[in-house]
Amino acid sequence: MPPSSAQPGKAPVAAKPRRTRGEGQWALGYREPLNKNEENKKNDDGLNVRDRIIDIYSKGGFDSIDPADLRGRFRWYGLYTQRAPGIDGGKTAVLEPEELDDRYFMLRVRIDGGRLSVAQLRAIAEISRDHGRDTADITDRQNVQYHWIRVEDVPAIWEKLESVGLSTTEACGDTPRVIMGCPLAGVAEDEVIDPTAQIQEIYDEHIGDPRFSNLPRKFKTSLSGCTSHCVNHEINDVAFVGVRNEAGEVGYDLFVGGGLSTNPMFARRLGTFVRPELVSEVWAGVCSIFRDYGFRRLRTRARIKFLIKEWGTERFREVLEKEYLGYELPDGPAPVLDPGVRRDHVGVHRQRDGRYYVGFAPKVGRVSGGSLLRVAEIAEEHGSDRIRTTPDQKLVILDIEEDRVDSIAAALESEGFEVRPSVFRRQTMACTGIEFCKLAIVETKDRAATLIEELERRLPDFEEPVTINVNGCPNSCARIQVADIGLKGQLVLNERGEQVEGFQIHLGGGMGLTQSFGRKIRGLKTTADDLPDYVERVLRRFQEQRKDDENFAA
Ligand code: SF4
Repeated sequence: MPPSSAQPGKAPVAAKPRRTRGEGQWALGYREPLNKNEENKKNDDGLNVRDRIIDIYSKGGFDSIDPADLRGRFRWYGLYTQRAPGIDGGKTAVLEPEELDDRYFMLRVRIDGGRLSVAQLRAIAEISRDHGRDTADITDRQNVQYHWIRVEDVPAIWEKLESVGLSTTEACGDTPRVIMGCPLAGVAEDEVIDPTAQIQEIYDEHIGDPRFSNLPRKFKTSLSGCTSHCVNHEINDVAFVGVRNEAGEVGYDLFVGGGLSTNPMFARRLGTFVRPELVSEVWAGVCSIFRDYGFRRLRTRARIKFLIKEWGTERFREVLEKEYLGYELPDGPAPVLDPGVRRDHVGVHRQRDGRYYVGFAPKVGRVSGGSLLRVAEIAEEHGSDRIRTTPDQKLVILDIEEDRVDSIAAALESEGFEVRPSVFRRQTMACTGIEFCKLAIVETKDRAATLIEELERRLPDFEEPVTINVNGCPNSCARIQVADIGLKGQLVLNERGEQVEGFQIHLGGGMGLTQSFGRKIRGLKTTADDLPDYVERVLRRFQEQRKDDENFAA
């Protein structure tokens, strides 16, 4: 039978065998760069830019920076140019990147495990006050991000951070990013294993290591050891989740391939049991597979989830064990999830040593250096030297004696940090948005803050924990697809047919027991100005129509 494309009266032409294009995988011999990013990385390791920042750029100023460093390697130390003010989101896709550049930078400080001492928080706060126009954001990966940073000030900032054991190394770029860890590690009543030592080991042994400084793209890690799973292992590239095996030993279950943005995928379980002393080695094995077999041709396919999709978990595990570890990992149990636990750690709760932790909510993660200094003082005055950042843009102070709980709650609330926030303040997150981000299409932080205030006023009795995540573009930095109400910034038409800032709505996403990606309903969009009306309508309808214990995701 001729091929269906054959035309009547013409001899069929034999189909040429299709040449499969390589994906740029190093392990298959594709060592020549297939795009500009790969070329830049091959030309010089991103880690090498540190010396040039100290010796040349901080002295010569913004104009002395080599463009390949400015838009590439600076990220290896957490530096991005911020968006020049006044450029609207409609121009984001049509202008060249350099036309969007301001002469100031965003600078991300990695806070592995979300762990801070009073001295570290004080240093972070003073840098914001002295170099960042008294502004900072707590991100949803437990980092702190500054704005308005001048390249001239970067060496002094690094010196201050490093003097208290913090760094910006590999906070961005095609590298192993911050290692997320449960803010309650070591104190949670339901903890299976405390991952603090393993987080430190991965950091000490592999961060800033040239063996892992040229990955196909970013590589996100999380470790958690309790049953609330607040570090969201479902959406990390590699995640270790605490479990107890049949013999009563504690260790970790291993997940790989989680990620949001375009083509979102929940991490897949390998079903192995990883003993604590092997975590760093297994992490290095997974990261090495990503480095060697990860796709490098297109950046849109360069996350590890695409490799997992192609290989499946069985093959991935086999390659990990045979080619990288040289031994087999035993099978292990799946983690237990406590359905009654909220992941954000807000409020006053007991630790297992009888003391208390106090979680509180800055509005959509935005803070000032001055207010962070007050948090450091308040913690110290109440006998704590342990502050934690959370994956929900919140802060937690540990180790408060019972008789000091009311005092610390009052002190925090007097600074505007609510310990018992409304459900809307507690559950709403926003990404950086158009104020500083060059990819943004819409404003996010102010919109989200206004939304919270409006919903608090209009629905004062609403208590269902509905998450609302506001994103300035499709990139999902504030996790569009796993929110109950996910808002993706885009330009939309208003009733007069004019293009204005607005959002596409995703409904019903979640993690944990309600794991699912929000449904994007065709045509379901709102202008930014109408957002409070829209969300109010959705929530009122939910209140009216819900049956018994039905939650929003259902
Ligand atoms: Fe920027 Fe988009 Fe990420 Fe928001 S989601 S921070 S706008 S890249």
